[in-house]
Amino acid sequence: MLQTDVLIIGAGAAGLMCAATAAARGRRVLVLDHANKAGKKILMSGGGRCNFTNLYCEPSNFLSGNPHFCKSALARFTQWDFIGLVAKHGVPYHEKKLGQLFCDNKSSDILELLLAECSDAGAEIRLNTAAQSIEKTAGGFHLYSDIGEIACQSLVIASGGLSIPTLGATGFGYQVAKQFGHEVLPTRAGLVPFTLTDPQLKALCTELSGTSVEDCRVSCNGQSFVENILFTHRGLSGPAILQISSYWQPGDTVHIDLLPHIDLPEWLATQQRERGNSELKTLLAELFTKKMATLLVDAWFSNKPLKQYTSTELKAIAEKLSDWQLVPAGTEGYRTAEVTLGGVNTDEVSSKTLESLKAPGLYFIGEVLDVTGHLGGFNFQWAWASGYAAAQYV
Ligand SMILES: Cc1cc2nc3c(=O)[nH]c(=O)nc-3n(C[C@H](O)[C@H](O)[C@H](O)COP(=O)(O)OP(=O)(O)OC[C@H]3O[C@@H](n4cnc5c(N)ncnc54)[C@H](O)[C@@H]3O)c2cc1C
Repeated sequence: MLQTDVLIIGAGAAGLMCAATAAARGRRVLVLDHANKAGKKILMSGGGRCNFTNLYCEPSNFLSGNPHFCKSALARFTQWDFIGLVAKHGVPYHEKKLGQLFCDNKSSDILELLLAECSDAGAEIRLNTAAQSIEKTAGGFHLYSDIGEIACQSLVIASGGLSIPTLGATGFGYQVAKQFGHEVLPTRAGLVPFTLTDPQLKALCTELSGTSVEDCRVSCNGQSFVENILFTHRGLSGPAILQISSYWQPGDTVHIDLLPHIDLPEWLATQQRERGNSELKTLLAELFTKKMATLLVDAWFSNKPLKQYTSTELKAIAEKLSDWQLVPAGTEGYRTAEVTLGGVNTDEVSSKTLESLKAPGLYFIGEVLDVTGHLGGFNFQWAWASGYAAAQYV
């Protein structure tokens, strides 16, 4: 039977960081992954350039049933620590916007960095090896896998969430958590596009498919984000929509201010005074594309020269454009979601060590836990920080 000190399930962001750090402490580390390649999500991330962290990472950038849980790990391995690692390996990077750090070249630079750290520290990685079931033993755990039984002292669950099954996502981590008496909070897709079924709304989005509107304010359930939105064939996407999707529940109304940087009532009043003969479509084409202005006016307003609108009508136009309210039919689901909300309840895991409070020697790190970051490099920072924290104790 194979024996190791630390057995890590999942060679993703959290698992690789934990493996390299624990092996550097002198622990014998074995990482298993059922995929044929380590870090598939890292390779896919950030549009192929991996948004590996964020300069402004704070606990407030994370959703969790217990918002305090992430604080300890994030404080002990910060964005600056990961930036230090990136610099050590000479990986070129840049800030795209809002503190989001991306590789200049390819996401594989980040994966190679992690694999080099694992190899230098002596952590072993076995791919094409699925973890099947686990048994508690006197000295730790026995794992049954494709390559037979493996005995370990510490078992780390780094198998991620349910997003993008084609990249290797499984519910294995939740199954293990339940086996050891942990509560798994309901999971749902996060950072995901919205779908629409209302025929008029859907037609509008389809016509505008591919059009992006810069810096809209999108709000729901007391949260708002100012970023771009993107019309798609099936509904709405773009960073502001992905961000708010994590706060949205079926049935909730989403509010979109298409022009948050303009005092619209004031702007419309000025246009009426100074360019009263110009039609609404013509004037709105200065704020949106011509096609979008035309489609919005056709869908929502009557088109006429501005001087013909009453002040009540102008007020209604300003209100619609600054508070477009819609109820999405749903989301694109795990098929395209960047993250999984919910997961292993953090109340039953130590925030300092990431060890189970129910089964000593069992650890949960990364996305399998009920900790989900905003868009912008925060999810990887959680993977690095939680992996690093657990590695000090495994
Ligand atoms: C398309 C896409 C783009 C993204 N871009 C970004 C970005 O730019 N910045 C950012 O911060 N976040 C991004 N994310 C989110 C980020 O990738 C995840 O939050 C992060 O990878 C979670 O790390 P993890 O190690 O917990 O899980 P994962 O990276 O999902 O790793 C889990 C591993 O466990 C393996 N596994 C699962 N079940 C088993 C089993 N039974 N046996 C063996 N192995 C198993 C899987 O194959 C996988 O390799 C993106 C996500 C997606 C889907």
